[in-house]
Amino acid sequence: MAYKCPDCGRPVEHQLISESHNLLTRTIANIFSGYHCPRCGKIPLRDFPPDVQKAMWLAKVPLIVGAVALFVVIVIIKVLLRSSAGS
Ligand SMILES: [Zn+2]
Repeated sequence: MAYKCPDCGRPVEHQLISESHNLLTRTIANIFSGYHCPRCGKIPLRDFPPDVQKAMWLAKVPLIVGAVALFVVIVIIKVLLRSSAGS
């Protein structure tokens, strides 16, 4: 979904981060990453109108759920590996 720049009204792009090799940190970084306008540059989330911010967070709910699920799976795998190595 495209959002409009609060300054010039052009469609903004979500700045996705792909440098991190860790899937979990990359997912979390993309949840909190900002938006980029081709004319005005980087736009912080707080510069958007409150209703747009709300829509942005709602759109990120699946990402947040995915990050939490991924974190839980990683913790479970680590605990299982530790317990099997100890015995
Ligand atoms: Zn702009």
